[in-house]
Amino acid sequence: MQAFNDSADVGHFIHGKRVKSAGTRTQPVFNPATGARPRTLLLGETADVEAAVASAKAAFPAWSDTPPIRRARVMLRFLELMNKHKDELAAIITAEHGKVFSDAQGEVSRGIDVIEFACGIPQLLKGDYTEQVSTGIDNWTTRQALGVVAGITPFNFPCMVPCWMFPVAIAAGNTFILKPSERDPSAALFMAELLQKAGLPDGVFNVVQGDKVVVDALLAHPDVKAVSFVGSTPIANYIYETGAKNGKRVQALGGAKNHMVVMPDADLDQAIDALVGAGYGSAGERCMAISVAVLVGDVADKIIPRLAERARNLVVKNGMEPDAEMGPIVTRQALERIEGYIKLGVEEGAKLVVDGRGLKVAGHEDGFFTGGTLFDNVTPEMRIYKEEIFGPVLACVRVKDFTEAVDLINAHEFGNGVACYTRDGHVAREFGRRIEVGMVGINVPIPVPMAWHGFGGWKRSLFGDMHAYGEEGVRFYTKQKSIMQRWPESTEKGAEFAMPTAK
Ligand code: NAD
Repeated sequence: MQAFNDSADVGHFIHGKRVKSAGTRTQPVFNPATGARPRTLLLGETADVEAAVASAKAAFPAWSDTPPIRRARVMLRFLELMNKHKDELAAIITAEHGKVFSDAQGEVSRGIDVIEFACGIPQLLKGDYTEQVSTGIDNWTTRQALGVVAGITPFNFPCMVPCWMFPVAIAAGNTFILKPSERDPSAALFMAELLQKAGLPDGVFNVVQGDKVVVDALLAHPDVKAVSFVGSTPIANYIYETGAKNGKRVQALGGAKNHMVVMPDADLDQAIDALVGAGYGSAGERCMAISVAVLVGDVADKIIPRLAERARNLVVKNGMEPDAEMGPIVTRQALERIEGYIKLGVEEGAKLVVDGRGLKVAGHEDGFFTGGTLFDNVTPEMRIYKEEIFGPVLACVRVKDFTEAVDLINAHEFGNGVACYTRDGHVAREFGRRIEVGMVGINVPIPVPMAWHGFGGWKRSLFGDMHAYGEEGVRFYTKQKSIMQRWPESTEKGAEFAMPTAK
């Protein structure tokens, strides 16, 4: 696959055109594998948000009036274009995020799933109808679009996470402003141009690049009716509080610390594969990455030596190399944060079994690489257990039994994803019922729900009431209206002063 070599400045996409920023602030966009900074991001200002909101507001009446099946046809053409250009988009992701190309292809595929779901919007918007709720009166409910809505997204899935939001929002009749991560901003522009090619009217989908300035302008703007956010917990909390204070509907998905329990009866070969793939895949920079292995009974002694061997032998290199298993970390600051946590873990008394720090990749000496790290004897009071590291660091906690494993997980502040490896149906069932986590995998390490099921964690992994995409997504991006109707021919005469009841 051809690498992505565009060196143009990265700006906004407003009213169907690529435009520069109203201000002069910029930020470099790195290729994390080489450490080079081939592109410059033009950071947005409040004036850019105002222009995008004005465009989206102007586009809303005609777009929301467009019959759902015609909106779905635009989505269908967009779906075809995404499939056709999947590899180009994946190369853009690898160039700015660093994840290996096959993983970037997988990310695009999971984004495409949601576009496919959004193509079914006519069925999803069907309302309820009751004939004759009272004599001569019918009552029905319908769901209508909100207006201009915004999405603020993290660096780790520059295609898939925006796709959790805008296909459903747009298909439901809203107009959309996307504020992508400033670390990997190009995928959003690529998708904006494909949407335009698919026939989406100007103004229905806009991209404003930037940082807190843009986010705050979106949160304060009275014409932005809803905000979807995915990112770290402190920012999710802030977005939820500020958006709600400003009268907006908000769903804010936050950080995670996902545990995987390995029971003594589990298939240990499968469990080891799962821990290696889910712990080190995408360099641990997934909100559903497994960062804690909860090893029950004698499992730790059996698998830690084998996990260590696998962690030491991970193929870490430029993600465009076909045999790469793990690419670089997204930025030098993130690399320093991760390696700082490894130092902390040692100071806290955890046993450092494999130390990934200081890894150099030949020919990529300036890249932001670290190797896979494995800790044993991690305990719940350690910061490396409590806090999200968001890197290729797997912490093993030893527990005596199933109950201790469940209690440990339920006491954690995050509740995004979790997995349990076992062959025992009763244990699996109890785990699914008792665990206080939003997404559960039984012998599935990364249980990201399919497009029609909806994605969302519990506790401080999600602020708001509704999960992303699926039917919850349709509900989030629409408001219910109830219409009760009768015709003059069936109207009883005379004013009614009592609360109307069925007659
Ligand atoms: P982040 O919170 O730093 O940034 C997310 C978005 O918020 C970006 O668009 C960024 O520009 C913006 N932002 C950052 N600081 C801000 C501030 N002070 N005020 C307003 N806006 C601000 O997250 P990230 O580093 O890009 O992504 C990694 C995090 O996202 C991890 O915590 C990961 O767990 C989480 N994540 C969660 C999910 C989920 O579904 N729960 C999915 C993917 C990522």
